[in-house]
Formats: sequence, structure tokens, C-alpha cells
Amino acid sequence: MRILANDGIDPVGKKLLEDAGFEVDTQNIPQEELASKLNSYDAITVRSATKVRKELIDACPNIKLIGRGGVGMDNIDVEYAKSKGVFVENTPASSSLSVAELVFSHLFNGVRFVYDSNRQMPVVGNTEFAKLKKKYAAGTELKGKTIGIIGFGRIGRETAKVALGLGMDVLAYDLFDVPAALTLELSGNIKVDVPVKKATLEEVLTQSDFISLHVPFTDKPILGKEEFEKVKQGVGVVNCSRGGVIDELALVEALNSGKVAFAGLDVFDNEPTPREEILKHPKISLTPHIGAATNEAQERIGVELAQIIIQRLKG
Ligand code: NAD
Repeated sequence: MRILANDGIDPVGKKLLEDAGFEVDTQNIPQEELASKLNSYDAITVRSATKVRKELIDACPNIKLIGRGGVGMDNIDVEYAKSKGVFVENTPASSSLSVAELVFSHLFNGVRFVYDSNRQMPVVGNTEFAKLKKKYAAGTELKGKTIGIIGFGRIGRETAKVALGLGMDVLAYDLFDVPAALTLELSGNIKVDVPVKKATLEEVLTQSDFISLHVPFTDKPILGKEEFEKVKQGVGVVNCSRGGVIDELALVEALNSGKVAFAGLDVFDNEPTPREEILKHPKISLTPHIGAATNEAQERIGVELAQIIIQRLKG
């Protein structure tokens, strides 16, 4: 059986598949050529780049499985594929810690102005060093501050664990369950239960020093103009979930007025071409949708995908 790993697959996952007798093709077939080429494979794996829409599914009836390395399935017509008897699988938990750690890259970046100093130092040169030193002098620590987490699923909880480990207070808002405590697994096999405070959206908005979003794509932004009016003056906002959950223009306005001190964004409206106002804003720390892009997460994703394919197509 042949697998097309169109957005790549970690070598460990590839080897697992090959050891189980699958042929794994990791060439990246351009989107427009997939309809004519995919039918010679039994399964396709994708990340977020390749789209598997209704037309492609119709054109390739031999496909038995669509595997998504990662979480969001917005690039796949999941229900349609399932209605045609195609398995659709993802690897939801593999990248949660990596995304959570990226949240803190943005937070540490934000409270110490690293994004801006990285842009300014090469431009102004050594003569202005003292001026910049002064400009970036009023940093803050994270310890003792409150982080509001919107969406308390897998990544929201991992983010909370990192925050609790740093000595931050966590306010957790979710449409569904919020556990009373989370177990921190520290080095030396030490486990500690640390309480979490369940909060309303209103409480998260009005009481948090930092807000991090971990919800699925929503048609209507969760943070828009009205919500930015309620947040604490000088809050830091991070979005490593999906573009669209923050109203980007309202964010820019809140940054310009100083209501929001900084933002860290890994995801955007209109990926892969985010708007200029976002890309050039001096108070926004930017990453190009790399939440899951660590070696560890990619290996876990590859292994999990391989195990799913083996179980579904050979089990
Ligand atoms: P999850 O399903 O485990 O958790 C999402 C949580 O959000 C759920 O608990 C759900 O009840 C809650 N929720 C949904 N709508 C809500 C709303 N309107 N208000 C409050 N809570 C709401 O998902 P996850 O694995 O934690 O992933 C979270 C997000 O991160 C997804 O959008 C996913 O696509 C994204 N993600 C991004 C990257 C990246 O590279 N940046 C990588 C992986 C996942």
C-alpha cells in the first residue's frame, strides 16, 4: 500500500510505516496536481498546508484514509470524506506542549520587548545603544502575574501548567469542563497538584495581566473591540490557536492606544499573507504558525500517524 505524506512526515514515523510494509512517498505534490495524482495512493497525510476538499475526495476514490498531523482539521472536508467511507484521523495531543511553550516564547518576548529590540538594534547601530537601553528598561516579570486562558482543552491546560510552574496565577475559561487542579510533572518524577481558578470570560478579561487563546476557529472573534475595552490597561495578548479568534483590526487599535501593551501571534487572518498592519506593528511579536514545529512534537506526530495508519489499513 502507498502513502503520500504530502506535507512531510518525521523519519521515525516513516520508518514505522515502511517496517509495516507501506511505501511512503514524501514528495510534495502541488495542490493543483493532486487530483490527477493522488488516486495511485491508499492514504494521504497532511499538516496544515495541503487542502483535502470535496473535489479532491471525489477525484480520488481509492483513498482510504486522510491523516492530519496535528490538531485543526479546517483544511479537510471531514464530514464529506467520512460520508464517502474515508477514515479521517488527526493527532490531537502530540503538539500541545510545544504550542504551550511557544506561548511563553511570546510572553517572555513581550514583557522584555525582545521583538522590538531585535528589530531596532541593527537599524540604530551602536551609537544609539544607550537610548535603546533606556527605551526597554521597564520590563516586567511573569511570576506572580495572572494569566487568563480562553479555551481550557489540551493546549490551554499545558499552557496553564507552564504558567503554574512559573508561579503565575491561572484563570481558566472554557465553554465546558475546567478541572479544579492540574498535576505538574517536575523533574525527578515529582508530581504536584496545583489549583486552577475557573473563571467567566468577563473575569478573564477584567482580571488578567496576560490573555492566551486556545480555542478552535470561530466565525466570530472572541476578542474584538468590545472585549478590548474591558481588559486591564497594559495587558499582553497571545494567540497561538487560529487566526480569526481575535479581531486583528481591533487588536491594532488597542495596541495603538496602549490598552494592550503587546501581542504575540503565531496565527493570522488570511494565512499565508497576514495584513501589513500586523506584520509591521512594533508591539507584535510574530511567528509563522510554528506552534507544533519542534523536533519532539514532529516525532510524536509522525509516530502517532504511523500507528493510526497501520491500525486502520492493516489492523
Ligand atoms: P481542544 O479541543 O483540546 O481545546 C479547545 C477548547 O476550547 C475546548 O475545551 C473547548 O471546549 C473550548 N472552546 C471552544 N470554543 C470556545 C469558546 N467560544 N469559548 C471558550 N472555550 C471554547 O483543542 P487544542 O488541542 O487545545 O487546540 C486549541 C487550538 O490550538 C485549536 O484552534 C488548534 O487548531 C490550535 N493549534 C494551533 C497550533 C499552532 O501551530 N499554532 C498547533 C496545534 C493546535
